[in-house]
Amino acid sequence: MSADCLFCKIAAKQIPAKIVYEDPDVFAFEDIGPQAPTHLLICPRKHIVSLEDVTDEDELMLGHLQTVAAKLARQRDLQQGFRTVINTGQNAGQSVLHLHLHLLGGRSMRWPPG
Ligand code: AMP
Ligand code: ZN
Repeated sequence: MSADCLFCKIAAKQIPAKIVYEDPDVFAFEDIGPQAPTHLLICPRKHIVSLEDVTDEDELMLGHLQTVAAKLARQRDLQQGFRTVINTGQNAGQSVLHLHLHLLGGRSMRWPPG
């Protein structure tokens, strides 16, 4: 855990959030500023700043983020489609420096993203 990290504090229940999924490696919660009817953030418990910082030992965890996203999408009846996104660094608009996968669904989306 990183003492100054918002998402580490959410994982430790020091800051409230609508947590929708937890296991020993990963947790997921409702985004506070939803950009779609379903907008969840899926995070590793391990504090990793971004995809720039992952190593080979994070490979299982990275796959796990996606499989948890797929399960949550099924639970929320997103059969018509959904999007998983990891913003990395300044150009991608990453605003919280703890790796997280966005799960967005419940509306149609454009491509390419802005
Ligand atoms: P990113 O811009 O990819 O780093 O995404 C960060 C996301 O975290 C944004 O979609 C924010 O709305 C969301 N966010 C920021 N603070 C909170 C919070 N306290 N609880 C839930 N989501 C948050
Ligand atoms: Zn953190």
